[in-house]
Amino acid sequence: MIYDLHSHSTASDGSLTPTQLVDLAAESGVSCLALTDHDGVDGIAEAVNAAKKNNIDLVPGIELSVSYQRKTIHIVGLQIDIDYKPLCEGIKKLQEYRLWRAEEIARRLAKVGINDALPGAWEYANGNMIGRMHFAHFLIKNGYAKDTRSVFKKYLVKNKPGYIHGEWAELDEAVGWIVGAGGIAVIAHPARYPLKRNKLRKLVKEFKQLGGRGIEVVSATHSINDINTMACLACDYELHASVGSDFHDPDVAWNKMGKLPPLPEQCQPIWHLWNN
Ligand code: AMP
Ligand code: MN
Ligand code: MN
Ligand code: MN
Repeated sequence: MIYDLHSHSTASDGSLTPTQLVDLAAESGVSCLALTDHDGVDGIAEAVNAAKKNNIDLVPGIELSVSYQRKTIHIVGLQIDIDYKPLCEGIKKLQEYRLWRAEEIARRLAKVGINDALPGAWEYANGNMIGRMHFAHFLIKNGYAKDTRSVFKKYLVKNKPGYIHGEWAELDEAVGWIVGAGGIAVIAHPARYPLKRNKLRKLVKEFKQLGGRGIEVVSATHSINDINTMACLACDYELHASVGSDFHDPDVAWNKMGKLPPLPEQCQPIWHLWNN
């Protein structure tokens, strides 16, 4: 069985529709895929249908944006009931914040001479989820940077014109919505946060006390060293280990579906929580 428990579709900032994403997962040999769009579940129904046709398992998921100690972190929810009311209400609040933030990003870009960024970003966004990736596409198309990496570096990260300090969900809210929805909360790509060792351990401890069950040990954004460090962290706190590519786009060379390193031996795979 090949598991990929973190991926994005056009329902957030991925470039494939849920159907195209599931088709690609099946072609790539993935047997269990989680769709985990940012702050939304609009792609799940379509993905479930596509998965039935391809005879693969589709885990309904989400990747929630969370503000933790003035930093943004991401919490993945797996096997969630997408109709759970408090989760839906939480999503609505996050999407409203995204709308306001998008307007603010456009205002700030206008101050450095980049006009019409809001309608420009909306051309790439699908439905109600708008994020920095859609601004990235607009800026690249208009020649402000050559690729995604450089456009983020120049315009969309801290201390750059199009960056705003996020005010997302609280950690306890996000974990509560996921657990309430019958799901499993997982800390996404833990090696990517600007948190020193002790701060990360504090986050993991708090997360576990709130009902969190897993951390993403294997992620396409993790080095082998990160994988080993996170495997130890998972063992220390008796958390289950997840595996996810964080796939967004088939044109991104370093992030191929179904091509992740295996979980280290000592890890308890997160799917043991639902495969009994
Ligand atoms: P948002 O949630 O709208 O702030 O956007 C976060 C998303 O932007 C991430 O999920 C990635 O898809 C993308 N992203 C963030 N930072 C970078 C970066 N440095 N390079 C490329 N993509 C990035
Ligand atoms: Mn993204
Ligand atoms: Mn993320
Ligand atoms: Mn992601």
